[in-house]
Amino acid sequence: MSVARLADLADPSACRRLVLKVGSALLVGKDGKARRDWLAGLVAEIAAARRNGQDVVVVSSGAIALGAATLGLPKGGRASLADAQAAAAVGQIALAELWSELLGGQGLIAAQLLLTLEDLEDRRRYLNAAATLGRLLEAGAVPVVNENDSVATQEIRFGDNDRLAARVAQAARANAVLLLSDVDGLYDRNPADPDARLLPQVRGVTAEVHAMATGGSGSGMGSGGMTAKLQAAEIAERAGIALVIINGTFENPVARALGGGIGTIFLPRRRDGARKAWLGGRIRLKGSLVIDTGAAEALALGKSLLATGITEVEGDFARGDVVAIRDGEGYMLAQGLVEYDAAECALLKGRRSGEHGEILGYAPRSAVVHRDQLVLK
Ligand code: GLU
Repeated sequence: MSVARLADLADPSACRRLVLKVGSALLVGKDGKARRDWLAGLVAEIAAARRNGQDVVVVSSGAIALGAATLGLPKGGRASLADAQAAAAVGQIALAELWSELLGGQGLIAAQLLLTLEDLEDRRRYLNAAATLGRLLEAGAVPVVNENDSVATQEIRFGDNDRLAARVAQAARANAVLLLSDVDGLYDRNPADPDARLLPQVRGVTAEVHAMATGGSGSGMGSGGMTAKLQAAEIAERAGIALVIINGTFENPVARALGGGIGTIFLPRRRDGARKAWLGGRIRLKGSLVIDTGAAEALALGKSLLATGITEVEGDFARGDVVAIRDGEGYMLAQGLVEYDAAECALLKGRRSGEHGEILGYAPRSAVVHRDQLVLK
């Protein structure tokens, strides 16, 4: 049985393993203090899920907001990267203590895992993090994950815990991701508009769905907003994982939303194999290959990308990096692991395979991006 509707998230036969993401605005009050009572209610819900036979992984924000208040930094600690990093270092200790204490009060063991984007983008490190998560769950602990903001630099940050949660769900082989937000879910237009309608179910994060998101964070405290949540839904759907957005601002928010069917569920459209799901969920692309319409048609038929169809090479990438594959209009068609570095791709572009050996001076590979290493958008 798989997750098909909101209520399934509380059913261990459909949702054996759940990732629960809690944002800064829910965890930290306007006074900069942790919202302890609210969190105690949520932790009781986590404990109930555990008793019900479900594994729960928590992705918790709040380090920057808590630390900024303690250090007295302006703009909630987000005025500069250095401020955010310092704030996170101070806030993370408090955050870990809070989770550890509240989970402990329910007889549960908290385990802290701080991850950077690179930990999940590099295949070896990703498998390593996945193994740690798996072992912790097996041992009965509740992993509490956050981005390691104190060392993550701007270029290599997730920056929002929504996408982090979707990536963690992949690594933990979870069945669903539950994002606690400050709105009920995705609306078909700006929720401030009286005609706005909550969408109970979305199948496929299309351009039309993206257009519904207004972007930006309502609270001004977190950094996610609806755009990041949709990106998270895309990562999850590729891995066959359902993603749900519910309103976390109530007491016992999970029971309210799942019981009342109030929220938006993004149903997965397909289930790529584990490796392709990881590849498709990669966030950082090193460059692009622009291709002609013949090559685009070949990709759509499941073929590899050959050099003849490449018209432009952008960015500085090395063999084995993940690159975007775009059409002449700039529309992203696919992403995949490239077999040559950027300079070699520039030499080979537009040239037939028979010429490659001579151009390169060594035996060429069968494709520039092999179909086994390629994921269509
Ligand atoms: N990792 C950040 C923190 O702990 C929050 C990122 C987000 O707002 O999603 O403060």
